[in-house]
Amino acid sequence: MKFKFNIPVNLIFGRNGVRENADKFQLGKKALIVTGKNSAQLSGALLDVEEVLVGNGTEYVLFDKIKNNPDLDNVAKGSDFGRENEVDFIIAIGGGSPLDAAKAISALCTNRVEPIRLVKEIMKNKSLPIVAVTTTSGTGSEVTPYSILTVPSMKTKKNFYSPYNFPVVAFADPKYTDSLPYRITLDTAFDAFSHLLESYLSIRSNPLNDAIAIEGMKMWAECKDGLINNKITPDIREKLMYASCLGGIAITHTGTTLIHAMGYALTYFKNYSHGRANAMLISEYLKFNYNKASGKINRVMELMGFKSQEEVDEYFSCGLEDKPELTDNECRLFAESAMEQGSVKLNPREVKGDDIYNFYHKIFGGVR
Ligand code: NAP
Ligand code: FE
Repeated sequence: MKFKFNIPVNLIFGRNGVRENADKFQLGKKALIVTGKNSAQLSGALLDVEEVLVGNGTEYVLFDKIKNNPDLDNVAKGSDFGRENEVDFIIAIGGGSPLDAAKAISALCTNRVEPIRLVKEIMKNKSLPIVAVTTTSGTGSEVTPYSILTVPSMKTKKNFYSPYNFPVVAFADPKYTDSLPYRITLDTAFDAFSHLLESYLSIRSNPLNDAIAIEGMKMWAECKDGLINNKITPDIREKLMYASCLGGIAITHTGTTLIHAMGYALTYFKNYSHGRANAMLISEYLKFNYNKASGKINRVMELMGFKSQEEVDEYFSCGLEDKPELTDNECRLFAESAMEQGSVKLNPREVKGDDIYNFYHKIFGGVR
């Protein structure tokens, strides 16, 4: 057995974590709070953070312009604002979009480079320290070194990786997800599930990481019926957030695989949310990989309480309501784009030739 395991994040899980840990916000003199348009207020997280900062006597400024699936221009504007205001640490509040954007903003505050370089090379200078407060249970970004950015010139999303992307402190308080609408709760939960599944099946998986992915899938399984039937109790909110953090820890060590590689095109070209894009691909992904990873896939089926592939198809079919009809050209273009993602190489079954093209065709049609 040989593996490395490192999560350098002080994770504070549970209710009222922000107010009970005001000292964890003492990372500098002036903070840049990075948020989306509404979620930081709606969730109550922004109010908690602001009161803590006022109590600590820490100055702050707010950048609340992060878009869903943030692009390079969006993060460049955030870093300009941070530099103009001479901030020395960052507080990210929101789902994966503001959290990922904050990582890029933080890096651009200390590295005066063209934003495109974030996705092409490792940044030299240490980023500003980040506190992350998550308001969704999906990406696990609060514990990962990844920042997924939309890159219009490449017509896709790309991973900006840096060891400095790990937040110094992360707050995962399930009460912040109470304000999430049902569809976003479901879609983000699908993202968390795909992290756990893809990490478990990744060729980089290791025994300690597998244990984490299995624990996450057990938690997710306990939410499975409530999620699909729109019966989201506080207990489910808590378990989903725990599963999502475990998913983030798991992919930190293994990366993602084919689902994420293929999902980005569905978001970039067809505007499906990240979690929804993944959900559309999960069932076919299990079939595609079965011969190569039957032992692990059987274990997933058992953990999730699925008795047959038909049950899996049916469960994830809610992700396929109003699925896009792709043309043959689109299937070809999306496949080329997916092949460019590094995560393809981590898939348990080697991905060759027309595999991805055929995969898209099987789900989304397209006259050849
Ligand atoms: P998101 O894009 O951050 O948010 C989706 C929507 O939900 C937004 O409209 C947001 O509003 C709203 N929202 C968030 N929290 C809310 C709350 N508590 N109450 C009400 N509304 C709320 O969604 P996400 O799925 O968490 O993040 C997706 C992004 O993360 C994608 O770019 C994806 O590629 C990336 N990702 C990153 C990693 C990683 O390891 N870093 C892993 C997987 C995916 P606002 O616009 O007002 O914020
Ligand atoms: Fe994801």
